[in-house]
Amino acid sequence: MKRNLLFILFFVFSFTLIAQEVPELMEMKPEMTELWEPEVPVVTPGAKYGNAPSDAIILFDGTNLAEEWEGDRDSIPHWVVEDSIVTATRGGGIRTKRQFGDCQLHIEWRSPAEVKGTSQGRGNSGVFFHEKYEVQVLDNYENRTYRNGQAGSLYKQYAPLVNVCKEPGEWQTYDIIFNAPIFKDENTFLVPPRVTVLHNGVLVQNAVELRGPTEYIGVPEYTVKKHGKGSIYLQDHGNPVSYRNIWIREL
Ligand code: MG
Repeated sequence: MKRNLLFILFFVFSFTLIAQEVPELMEMKPEMTELWEPEVPVVTPGAKYGNAPSDAIILFDGTNLAEEWEGDRDSIPHWVVEDSIVTATRGGGIRTKRQFGDCQLHIEWRSPAEVKGTSQGRGNSGVFFHEKYEVQVLDNYENRTYRNGQAGSLYKQYAPLVNVCKEPGEWQTYDIIFNAPIFKDENTFLVPPRVTVLHNGVLVQNAVELRGPTEYIGVPEYTVKKHGKGSIYLQDHGNPVSYRNIWIREL
């Protein structure tokens, strides 16, 4: 009995000591949540908005179309280059020779100053990721079309939040963050592609998740054949849309 009492007293004493120690052990200091390694990589930004930062891959600067791009019908990108600008001509779209997964893309585009056509027939082109997922390029300055098919839309999936199109003939920018899909199996997304788009510096797509590849007819499917990295593809839709200053950062 006396022995049991001693044990009890010992445990009470020990617990009291530990209880006194705990607050001191758990006390956080500022440096305990500071992470120093690895150091954040240094990137030199462009001199002004739209200029490529130091770690960007220059996909088009007016001089390197044939090095970085090919046609979708043969190895030659048939689009016309003039004054550091490349313009869509009939003969198919162009795709990058390099392939990308997660990326940040900057691209500048201009719909023809001479307005022809209405709705989808006016300044239509498109920026595709993996040649499958389209951010629509269209002249929607005072030009109505279906909302999920206008400039800045994820075509037929997400309308842009706002219409910030400039007048035909003016240069416009897209800054696009594309997160490539992660696949669960051979034909199902575990994590769908996610896309953020700024059009002329204004947010028009806020991390939207795609249902599947862009479809012209029918509802996009969540099921899609498993793929890895892919090309950036610019669409020839029969309108002479121009592009310049295209760069990309792999994420
Ligand atoms: Mg298009």
